Amino acid sequence: MRAVRQGWVAALLLCAPAAAQQAPALRIERADGSMTDAGVVFDRGYATVQLALLDDLGWSVTEVGGDITIAVPNEIVVALRIGSPFFRWDGLVFQLSDAPYRDANRVLVPLQLLTDFFPTRLPDLYEYDGARSLLRAGDPSLVGGARPAGGGPGGGAVQLPTGPSTYDGPRVVIIDAGHGGADPGALGPRGIREKDVALAVALDLAAILRRNTDFEVHMTRDTDVFVDLWERGEIATKVKGERPGLFISIHGNSIPNQRTTRGFETYFLSEARTEHERRVSANENASLSYQGQGVDPENEPDLDFILRELRNLDHSHWSSLLAEFTQQELEEFHPGPNRGVKQGVLAVLTNALMPSVLVETGYLSHDEEGRLLAERAFQRDTAQALARAIERFFERYPPGNGDR
Ligand SMILES: [Zn+2]
Repeated sequence: MRAVRQGWVAALLLCAPAAAQQAPALRIERADGSMTDAGVVFDRGYATVQLALLDDLGWSVTEVGGDITIAVPNEIVVALRIGSPFFRWDGLVFQLSDAPYRDANRVLVPLQLLTDFFPTRLPDLYEYDGARSLLRAGDPSLVGGARPAGGGPGGGAVQLPTGPSTYDGPRVVIIDAGHGGADPGALGPRGIREKDVALAVALDLAAILRRNTDFEVHMTRDTDVFVDLWERGEIATKVKGERPGLFISIHGNSIPNQRTTRGFETYFLSEARTEHERRVSANENASLSYQGQGVDPENEPDLDFILRELRNLDHSHWSSLLAEFTQQELEEFHPGPNRGVKQGVLAVLTNALMPSVLVETGYLSHDEEGRLLAERAFQRDTAQALARAIERFFERYPPGNGDR
């Protein structure tokens, strides 16, 4: 596929999807030079095209019970769902500005998929010219077999991580300091803010791990800035690449109307089982609303969809082991109690395609523990405990490197 659209100007690929949504029509130019009208539908105030158009463009299209799959054999799988703006492109989750929907006997998908995501992720195959409302489309069947297994530079699709057995390079650790910028997180006594506690522990942890050349350490933020929840995991997935790595998100907990609750708990990505897990998940997902999405994670079909889509990647065994080690190490110094390993639908973990946990290092809403969380010595002890948990984890992970 590398030769299909080689001469085109890459800058055009960065076109704004907004321009497309105001366009009255979209023309499609095929590889053979033929020109057709995409049949853009504006019924719901945003531009869509019929799902059948993708079939016409050479994709294999199926729709069963609202789950839409478009695929190129043995290559790219894109999964969408009617009513949800979220979709999965191979292993990564993305968000459209609007959702696919069903109308009588046809399914309509946002035009943005063709004009924004296709050209960006498959630049060898698609080019969108916003000024002319023209999409140049290659033949996806040419993709099959032409791309190296790891994904060519122009391919865009990310290969799912596998457990390398003879890898001898660094272990990649992505440290995520929760909240930040306009999102302060939970608030504790005397103006203590969760975002500051999380960043202090994260910076300490990074400093400790960087002394060990076995580790390559990245941070989703190292200053007081806002990073959106979806982006955090995606950053992690990108920097890790094919290497063994983990994602750890650092937080402080709060139940403002239960000021006697204290202790530490560690979450991994799975369905919340208890009322408490649902409440903590809801709190940690709340910063999604800083993007203006207003997601209600307590009853959120989109998150269910993402969870279901990612379940087959199944890092949950390793994530729960990392969570267990984290709890054990915190217990060594933390006044506690050890509230245990928990599971929840945590947006920050959904895009981190690797073993990943979210640790609630204590309760800001507890007067004594809240003040403790702000103490530098306590933050350093917390970071030491997390570092030990990470070291223990990599003694076992990935499988095959256990006895190194
Ligand atoms: Zn938090």
